[in-house]
Amino acid sequence: MPAPDRAIIHVDMDAFYASVEQLDDPSLRGRPVIVAGLGRRGVVSTASYEARRFGVRSAMPTAEARRLCPDGVYVFPRHDRYQEVSSVVFDVFGEVTPQIEGLSLDEAFLDVTASLKLFASVEAIGRRVKDGIRERTGLNASVGMAHNKLLAKLASESSKPDGFLRIHRHEVRGYLDPLPVGKMWTIGRVAEESLHRVGIRTIGELVRADAWRLHKALGERHARQILALAQGTDERPVVAEAAEQSIGAEWTFETDLSELPIAEAWMLRQCERVGARARARGLEARTISVKLREPPFLTHSRQAQMSVAGNGTPEIYEVARRLLRTWWEQHPRPKLRLLGVSLSGFGKHDVPQQDMFAAPVEKRRVDGLQDKINEKFGAGALMRAGVLKTRGSE
Ligand SMILES: [Mg+2]
Repeated sequence: MPAPDRAIIHVDMDAFYASVEQLDDPSLRGRPVIVAGLGRRGVVSTASYEARRFGVRSAMPTAEARRLCPDGVYVFPRHDRYQEVSSVVFDVFGEVTPQIEGLSLDEAFLDVTASLKLFASVEAIGRRVKDGIRERTGLNASVGMAHNKLLAKLASESSKPDGFLRIHRHEVRGYLDPLPVGKMWTIGRVAEESLHRVGIRTIGELVRADAWRLHKALGERHARQILALAQGTDERPVVAEAAEQSIGAEWTFETDLSELPIAEAWMLRQCERVGARARARGLEARTISVKLREPPFLTHSRQAQMSVAGNGTPEIYEVARRLLRTWWEQHPRPKLRLLGVSLSGFGKHDVPQQDMFAAPVEKRRVDGLQDKINEKFGAGALMRAGVLKTRGSE
């Protein structure tokens, strides 16, 4: 009996770097934006969809892009900012499955087979991811769903931009057959030319071709691999990374916050969220970062190290609150549109034995109990009293 179908999701942000630039600077929206190295040998990282209409593509020399699109806005990449948005995106993934294989800052495979017990369908999970990313970052992701990686990626690519597509088993041939062979993974330029020489141009033609013609074009082993993919068979597992880069939580306010105690209560709430996620995964962080956005778009981030790696809410909050207060005191009329905290610099429990228990036992028990109750009754079921101040300002 064949194994039950897996549920795989491929998520890819649309024109990621360029979209972040358009998000942070509204004057760039609707204009061709090209994020690129600006020196003489600079290369394009990402072109917005407006710029792609002029033929500008990733990996193209910036000089060529300027010829094609002289009126474009050329922006130097801000990797810290993209990393920051990326960690929010990956947090959304982490809410539907721990099985995440990140391919880059803005692209990942998720194996959500086990999550189907909690959600109605793979589409429900895909929608939650897409909407979650949109709500928390303001950016569009394309989401593809299928029973393997190959088809999930094909689904997101062919529905881009702002894509959302599930490829069912009975639809596989309809999607694969018309594609040019060069579109297939593992078919490089050389293999593509060899296939063209024996008259094979599409994946449909490849699937129907005589075995000897394929062997002649590609060699036996390569032919067998490519044929399996062309048939839509792909058993590769989603390989979750050993350690995550960061765990973050943030909140955007409908009305800007201008009172420190309220901001602190919100900060505590975010600390509880990241702490719970870190504890659930057995990760201990060294670095705490807070993110503070002044309306409308000026974002500040501040970082500090913990003296001992940890994941307890009180330890995280102590550092986050200090960073928040310092920032608050440095601003004449502080106002916040968004506030967040993230953990990074995860260690592999390499702290000496006695340090692992350095946090008072009582605090650890509160965290553990709270995690259990939240797990059972939904996040937010039990919050610290300080957090209750956030009710009403939501
Ligand atoms: Mg992308």
